[in-house]
Amino acid sequence: MSTILIVEDEPALRSTIAYQLRREGHQVVIAGDGEQALAAARSARPDLVVLDLMLPKIDGLEVCRRLRHESTVPILILTARSDEVDKVVGLEVGADDYMTKPFSMRELMARVKAMLRRLAMVRQASVAEDTEEVIVAGDLQIDVSRRRVRRGRHELHLKPKEFDLLAFLARHPGRVFTRGHLLERVWGYDYIGDPRTVDVHVRWLRQKIEPDSSDARLLETVRGIGYRFGGAGS
Ligand code: CA
Repeated sequence: MSTILIVEDEPALRSTIAYQLRREGHQVVIAGDGEQALAAARSARPDLVVLDLMLPKIDGLEVCRRLRHESTVPILILTARSDEVDKVVGLEVGADDYMTKPFSMRELMARVKAMLRRLAMVRQASVAEDTEEVIVAGDLQIDVSRRRVRRGRHELHLKPKEFDLLAFLARHPGRVFTRGHLLERVWGYDYIGDPRTVDVHVRWLRQKIEPDSSDARLLETVRGIGYRFGGAGS
């Protein structure tokens, strides 16, 4: 089941489309003008947008441009004007597909189905790509995409920042990072923090991932500089 946003100011057409999509088992969100459309897209995070071009307040082309700026959601444009089609399908506004009015509901459903199928394939492909990123160091396995860490057969429970720090260091094995650099990369550029924040997180991490946290081998301290992941033996 997908969530589909319908943006159409003609009530009769809007409810016909909504009815058909619900019959296909989809969840439907509706908007009657451009402003509502943008608000609904942000709050409902639809899987697909069916967007009419001639709309009150903000027109469909502008809505499409802004949506594209914010997300990669597939957009199917409805237009009564065939002279708009060039703009729509071109890079200018970034719609994925279009239909000119009048169209049959059957045709619209077929188009929606095809777009959702493409979307599912893209999502599957990107999951497959991500799952390849599992970092193994000794008996420690860091599954970056699922944000899970295991030691042998035991799942370790890390806090979000502990995980981010571990994943960052583990992606650059053997490289030494200063506390400042780690703050910037893991906590973010605008984070104004105490470098001791890093020390505290390293200490917590060691207690969770090192077999013997007083003899840290995975998260090494490099005296006077900072930290390094898995120097020797991993
Ligand atoms: Ca319209």
